[in-house]
Amino acid sequence: MGFNNAPGLGAPSRPAAANGGFDVLVVGAGFAGSVLAERLASQLNLRVLICDKRPHIGGNAHDRYDDAGLLIHPYGPHIFHTNSADVFDYLSQFTEWRPYQHRVLASVDGQLLPMPINLDTVNRLYGMNLTALEMEGFLASQAEQIEQVKTSEDMVVSKVGRDLFNKFFRNYTRKQWGLEPAELDASVTARVPTRCNRDDRYFTDTFQAMPRHGYTRMFERMLAHPNIKVMLNTDYREIEHLVPWRHMVYTGPVDAYFNYRHGRLPYRSLRFEHVTLPQEQYQAVGTVNYPNDYAYTRITEFKHLTGQAHAQTSLVYEFPCDEGDPYYPVPRPQNAEIYRLYQADTEQMPNVSFVGRLATYKYYNMDQVVAQALATFKKLKAGLGAAQALHTPGLHDAATAAVTPLSEAPANGAALLPARTRRDGPAANPALNGAATPQ
Ligand code: FAD
Ligand code: UDP
Repeated sequence: MGFNNAPGLGAPSRPAAANGGFDVLVVGAGFAGSVLAERLASQLNLRVLICDKRPHIGGNAHDRYDDAGLLIHPYGPHIFHTNSADVFDYLSQFTEWRPYQHRVLASVDGQLLPMPINLDTVNRLYGMNLTALEMEGFLASQAEQIEQVKTSEDMVVSKVGRDLFNKFFRNYTRKQWGLEPAELDASVTARVPTRCNRDDRYFTDTFQAMPRHGYTRMFERMLAHPNIKVMLNTDYREIEHLVPWRHMVYTGPVDAYFNYRHGRLPYRSLRFEHVTLPQEQYQAVGTVNYPNDYAYTRITEFKHLTGQAHAQTSLVYEFPCDEGDPYYPVPRPQNAEIYRLYQADTEQMPNVSFVGRLATYKYYNMDQVVAQALATFKKLKAGLGAAQALHTPGLHDAATAAVTPLSEAPANGAALLPARTRRDGPAANPALNGAATPQ
């Protein structure tokens, strides 16, 4: 691996800025990489190169207009929701919002029923007329006693019993993960609650909204800082030894970074089938789940999410599979064990911060990744604090960056990162290790 990009910043053989180099190389232009690029450039005035092997920014949250002119999410539906005012305020610098509350129906026993399971789901499924209180009693009568809830199956049957589990969760989970629910951590199905009221929203977070002009526009504004250069269609391995840099933010799969030295971490993939229909609307809500029929798990109609007015409508079908881009870490004990080996390796790499869903092998939503990236930024900033006092204001202004060698900065210019953060530095600096605590 490229651990020797800059052979010691005290006496750099290739001063970064002199060669058009960068303070930070960010690998991956999704949420994790873009938030860090934006923070490092705008708050610390560092020069950032962000590369992505894909031909676009935004990572899996990228959106674009299809041939019919409808705004779609090529990598599946992305609905923004968070309880964190910090995350929402941060992103609000780069976008206006369109309030949107996502609703999902599940196709079960010939009916389209609210998902998460709520009072209406149960009443319509069983032809009953329970009140909220009666539903609590009904679920209690169905629920199985499980001493220690460990798996995704335990999680559901301990709350709603076997029949609802079989109808709504068992087959969807098998299809989505290629595993039995009993083989997956409880946290997977715990993402979907059960309600005894009639609330039919998929999420109940305080902030629920879509970027008014789309995710890609939001990312464009995040990356528009003059200190940030964006390089697309570029695997970082093609450039890590060509372009001088001092610190790396890595947001790709963690096992790939270490050349799979502890074996492959399983990531579940999806095949997306996009369809445009010559009609204004296809389904009543944003997403319809098909737990028990078909090879796909769900159909999403984008116009519900985007609010776009258009004579046609675009849908995406999601077909889970093993091969393909890594979309989901697979939460189960044996994978956590492999990840721990990689995590230990990341801790030996003070000059690389591992951030995001793939690099920390966490089934995170967008807001959690933003929170993780902001927390990583705080740690990096603390690590850089002492060095910043020596930083020349304007050193990295667009106009001067290309011509001002770092070696001419005060205190030999190598002090943008403290000595212990250097690739061959004498000691590891845990503050720069990027393992952030999600909020
Ligand atoms: P990514 O977006 O995966 O970005 C990593 C980037 O690194 C990629 O662009 C990749 O091309 C690049 N990369 C990898 N390796 C290299 C390399 N060697 N060189 C250069 N570049 C590289 N979250 C929600 O909050 N709400 C939702 O509704 C929601 N729906 C989702 C639906 C689907 C189908 C999926 C798969 C995810 C969904 N998510 C949702 C989760 C959301 O996509 C992630 O939380 C978020 O996008 C992760 O951002 P990231 O930056 O960590 O990773
Ligand atoms: N799930 C299910 N039936 C559903 C919806 C979800 O069994 O109708 C389970 C399934 O295991 C899924 C998990 O709950 O992977 C999390 O669902 P979520 O909608 O949060 O998945 P994501 O949007 O991340 O794909």
